[in-house]
Amino acid sequence: MSRHDSRSGDPGSYRDRKSDGGFGGGASYRKEGSRKEDSEGFGSSLPKQDFDGLTPFEKNFYVESSAVASMTEDEVEAYRLRREITVEGRDVPKPVTDFQVVGFPDYVMQEVLRAGFVEPTPIQAQGWPMALKGRDLIGIAETGSGKTLAYLLPAIVHVNAQPFLAPGDGPIVLVLAPTRELAVQIQQETTKFGASSKLKNTCVYGGVPKGPQVRDLQKGVEIVIATPGRLIDMLESHHTNLRRVTYLVLDEADRMLDMGFEPQIRKIISQIRPDRQTLYWSATWPKEVEQLARQFLYNPYKVVIGSIDLKANHAIRQHVEIVSENQKYNKLVKLLEDIMDGSRILIFMDTKKGCDQITRQLRMDGWPALSIHGDKSQAERDWVLSEFKAGKSPIMTATDVAARGLDVKDVMYVINYDFPGSLEDYVHRIGRTGRAGAKGTAYTFFTAANARFAKELIGILEEAGQTVSSQLAAMGRGAPPVPSGHGGFRDRGRGLGGGRPWSK
Ligand code: AMP
Repeated sequence: MSRHDSRSGDPGSYRDRKSDGGFGGGASYRKEGSRKEDSEGFGSSLPKQDFDGLTPFEKNFYVESSAVASMTEDEVEAYRLRREITVEGRDVPKPVTDFQVVGFPDYVMQEVLRAGFVEPTPIQAQGWPMALKGRDLIGIAETGSGKTLAYLLPAIVHVNAQPFLAPGDGPIVLVLAPTRELAVQIQQETTKFGASSKLKNTCVYGGVPKGPQVRDLQKGVEIVIATPGRLIDMLESHHTNLRRVTYLVLDEADRMLDMGFEPQIRKIISQIRPDRQTLYWSATWPKEVEQLARQFLYNPYKVVIGSIDLKANHAIRQHVEIVSENQKYNKLVKLLEDIMDGSRILIFMDTKKGCDQITRQLRMDGWPALSIHGDKSQAERDWVLSEFKAGKSPIMTATDVAARGLDVKDVMYVINYDFPGSLEDYVHRIGRTGRAGAKGTAYTFFTAANARFAKELIGILEEAGQTVSSQLAAMGRGAPPVPSGHGGFRDRGRGLGGGRPWSK
């Protein structure tokens, strides 16, 4: 018996998945596992799964409401245009323009109404009907776009239509995420929105004792949110299994690939039945991300929010100053003197060592700074994050571990003390401010060593209507850098006008 009655059924079959070629037209579908297995030894002891003779399951829960059905093609197109939604795939459903017409069951609607949301975000408006139809989905959307609920609410509907967990069963929904921070955030949303149907979840990530996670897994949880390494660990030691997983989410796939998780992802997916529903999320769409999608998704929809070209959030004021490496610290202090008003300030550095050094120096100089990076224990990272979120330590320095996925409300300023290794990271880092309709400001130190990024950075600044300084413009044309003189930061400040390097 399922937890809740579902409304319609169109169970996909394993044979369909194996024999059909359909990835967005043209490209061929490759059988899972046909690529060379990883050689790193991650998960090498996991057993081969036998997927023959599996019990079919239900995954299509979408019934288009009459209000949605009555939208004309022109109206659909106008809506998508207005909300910057681009779609690909066969039989794309019309978007749902408000919560009432999605057809969510009451137990989901209760939570949505309780949250006080006014309307679906673009990714939700288009992603919900797609996901509820039980089809695979590629979503190109950033953290902050409401994508967690775009996959989570359909996941909750999915779980509630499946038979109850039996002793020894693993989860029904598996969400893979690149970092513990993102995993914990997803778990918080899961706990909140799964509450009314009493769904149990757990978060499985490294750097903390396994005991409590093992106990949760053994008790039985419908939804597991995991980082890849720790999940493999749990699978190898038989604390859980993925035989019941029928709804798989890969969140921030680009980030997971950047972090080298591809072998682990392959290993994990090899343990999951092929007729599962897979939802694949990424903020960007580079080749490697697309290749992985081609292998593991079947006949997916693709929905892109905004432009696939790299774009910064227009609610963020971006300032870039050309500096030399040894000017940075003094300029940082001057900047802090100028902007510090108790708002949260996130400062990005390249290295853990740099992060520690600058943080120590700042603290010696009396600034309330704490730091978060991959070498810190989980307990310390949790504590630092909570101090920052609570505003007790308004300055946080971080390596890119905090660049994506963190949803800290009210970060007013992002400072790139070191320029990141890619323009994508730049956009994601500064995207920690200007969230959920707020305004934000980003300051970036740019040195001669960063010259190769000048041209693309100028493109991003111009697209967002920001001022490009003459020094940066010259670097974009290949001229040698001219660091701004002394006092560049002191001159610039909130709301101060007139010819200062940072002011618009
Ligand atoms: P995400 O992109 O999933 O990280 O979501 C960013 C934030 O937006 C989270 O705090 C969500 O709770 C919130 N959110 C999600 N959906 C909506 C919505 N429809 N309206 C307003 N806020 C939302």
